[in-house]
Amino acid sequence: MDTIAVLDFGGQYTHLIANRIRRLGVFSEIVPCHAPASDLRPFKGIILSGGPYSVLDPGSPTVEAEVFTLGIPVLGLCYGHQLMASLLGGGVCKGKVREYGTARIAITEESALFAGLDTDQVVWMSHGDTVDRLPEGFAVLASSEDCSTAAVGDASRRLYGLQFHPEVTHTPNGMTILDNFIGICGCRREWSAEFFLKEMTAGIEKQCNGRNVFLLVSGGVDSTVAFALLNETLGPERVLGLHIDTGLMRLDESDDILAYLREHGFNNLHIVDASRRFLATLGNIADPEEKRAIIGKLFIEVQQAALAERGLNAEKWMLGQGTIYPDTIESAGTEHADRIKTHHNRVDIILELLRKGLVLEPLSQLYKDEVRALGEELGLPHKLVWRHPFPGPGLGVRALCSDGAHQPVDSSVEDQTVRLAGALGYAARVLPVHSVGVQGDGRTYAHPALVTGPRDWEALERVSTRITNAVRGVNRVVYGLRVKKPEDGYRVEKAFLTRDRLDKLRKIDHAVTEALYASEEYDAVWQMPVVLLPLVNCDNEECVVLRPIMSQEAMTARFAPLSEPALNAIIESARAIDGVGDVFFDVTHKPPGTIEWE
Ligand code: GLN
Repeated sequence: MDTIAVLDFGGQYTHLIANRIRRLGVFSEIVPCHAPASDLRPFKGIILSGGPYSVLDPGSPTVEAEVFTLGIPVLGLCYGHQLMASLLGGGVCKGKVREYGTARIAITEESALFAGLDTDQVVWMSHGDTVDRLPEGFAVLASSEDCSTAAVGDASRRLYGLQFHPEVTHTPNGMTILDNFIGICGCRREWSAEFFLKEMTAGIEKQCNGRNVFLLVSGGVDSTVAFALLNETLGPERVLGLHIDTGLMRLDESDDILAYLREHGFNNLHIVDASRRFLATLGNIADPEEKRAIIGKLFIEVQQAALAERGLNAEKWMLGQGTIYPDTIESAGTEHADRIKTHHNRVDIILELLRKGLVLEPLSQLYKDEVRALGEELGLPHKLVWRHPFPGPGLGVRALCSDGAHQPVDSSVEDQTVRLAGALGYAARVLPVHSVGVQGDGRTYAHPALVTGPRDWEALERVSTRITNAVRGVNRVVYGLRVKKPEDGYRVEKAFLTRDRLDKLRKIDHAVTEALYASEEYDAVWQMPVVLLPLVNCDNEECVVLRPIMSQEAMTARFAPLSEPALNAIIESARAIDGVGDVFFDVTHKPPGTIEWE
């Protein structure tokens, strides 16, 4: 079968590139970047992935230069583009302005790679380095305002490099570009999703090897689809679902899930209330990665205890999880990838079980949109399949904690932010807390900036992108939706995962989600995390962030503007809750910000 190789430099989107090529009907395989060039001869095309490294750093991953003389078309993406330029005699430098999230490019040169596209294109970027000198034979094909080498190519050698990411859905015409590359490679389209489904079901039987599965079911889309799939493939008598109430769930969620799944014929689901144990262990932990590690470990301990309590033989019951691919890659699941955050299903104790072949994860190669399609295929109800995703650690990563220490803001960071925002008509201040970002395929843990001014989404997108591109030290921008006296500043407060605080967040989350439902904008939004900050305003009330986003598979996202009536209803509903202070609206795309704050 005609195949395209994706050489992996540890990019967040490496697996997604292969996935996209397959969706276009061509088989694609990921190959470690250190593979000898001669091994690549059988492939019809080669794509060099992005990655968290800089080609300027000694020891960064590279590829044999013979890859470019095999006569096989090569497409370098981001790090891959920078690496190709530098190996072929061009130059790379640290960019003056970095680019994260949305950018516009102008196509200046006709090229087979851009066939069928208008000259003005929106693309998704995530880079700090830039190609500043072209290798011989190369021409610039497209430029953005901040990057003159957004696309380059040598048509005679069929070598192309893109600084942006055509593989992510937020590059609207990315699939056309990849499709054009497939054309340049002369590939026949011989692959289809049925291959995959067949392989997946065969894989479940093979991996179980006669054993049964004890599956963790949070009630979210992934674990519910995994549960339905296993019930169908192995039969309900070989599958047991376990829902753990961690104390970090949404309002009434555990009861609702049990009732809902029973109603739909799943009788092999058990619930354990482990909330006291979870909250006691998380008691005074503020660090997000530490919280995640504890939560992941407790899931397994509770699962193993539940197994023993039921007198089930651990040898005969494998652990099942609804892990999907982004969980793996964001947890640094490939050789050169950076750890953006540790997903609860990728903590040490689980990695150990995985190494021993004791974990079954039927969906581990899929993205959310594919899981949903599978859920529909399995006949699950629409409401369940299209529920907003909810992270495994639940409200544990939405109630930000603090030991009370102010995260000091550098005065140059503050000044630069204020100046950039001011030039675009907004007042700004940098908040003394941190949140997680993903920039240039690496993790950042930096300050959010708060901007106040007109509620104009296009202007807010501009100001947000300007600040996060230019200011190192700010990876997120929030808009003051309802703020009292931001000029008085905010005070960091000691705050942990206590039941009271979680109850409060539960109430807020419930109220605003209901308001979103009522506004009929629920389906237009992919997810709307509600985040409680360890920050209080001038009246000593806690600050809350709304984070509605649009996405298909969570690898990239756009912040989702809501209509005025929906926003007003949401603000009203949040205000009705005691002790809710300023309400911020997150206007950051992914990258540079992750969807969840930690
Ligand atoms: N780390 C490199 C940069 O920031 C490449 C980033 C990427 O491949 N996404 O420029």
